Amino acid sequence: MNASSLQEEEKNKNIENSEAITKKIEQINSKDKHIYIKARVEKLFELIQGNNFKMRKIIVSDNTGTIAVVIWNEKCISLTENLSEGDIIAVINGYARENPLSKKVEIHVGKFSDLILVKKSKEKTISEMEEGLNLVDGYITFVFRGEHTIKKCAICKKKVNDSCEIHGNKAIEKHLIIKLIINDGLNSIKVAAFDGIAEKLLSLRKGNSIDESILNLNKDIIEIEAQLIKNKDKYRLKNFSLLDEKSANYYLEEIKHELEKAA
Ligand SMILES: [Zn+2]
Repeated sequence: MNASSLQEEEKNKNIENSEAITKKIEQINSKDKHIYIKARVEKLFELIQGNNFKMRKIIVSDNTGTIAVVIWNEKCISLTENLSEGDIIAVINGYARENPLSKKVEIHVGKFSDLILVKKSKEKTISEMEEGLNLVDGYITFVFRGEHTIKKCAICKKKVNDSCEIHGNKAIEKHLIIKLIINDGLNSIKVAAFDGIAEKLLSLRKGNSIDESILNLNKDIIEIEAQLIKNKDKYRLKNFSLLDEKSANYYLEEIKHELEKAA
């Protein structure tokens, strides 16, 4: 067994433990071990660097209280560099200590602990989306092949077959439409991208034809930050930016899934 699969196994154990001992902040005592909490980041302090240690403290809250989370050594950089206030995080397998000065209980994230970002503050999950514009982090998991153009009457803005019942052929315009599936790690939705956004999508894995570009897209799972417009349970991709050129991090998605079940 190599180092990374050992790590994987350790993490899997941690997740199993986390389900058994999910806590609210007010329940945490100074001698607790194997702590799992899900909380909101209230404040991030600067990194503190000593001769032989590094640490960073963050303050988190849930509906029962507020507590400091202390992250040690190399983890204090890797686990906190993308955090901002308002983000929802989870601590997995943390341990508690009483701060000798303040006498307050703190949660520590050490060698066998983990801290993960559950949700960025400004973002919504697919299940939380409201009518209108939403920002969602997710993955393009599938792009549909098939019909890629629709016709519309430019005057009444309605989709038509060949001509408009009222305006005839006067103002018929063609639009590029690409349908895709976006998944946020928990839920999937079918989304339509039109014209410029559809072209931007196709250009991600450009082929010699639309169908070839779609085939290329379907070889990857592409992480994006999507601006989605919800209108009566229909979703339109307004814009997007790439988050990660690499394939999806399935492991992190698995953890998120477990956390949602445990919460
Ligand atoms: Zn018309």
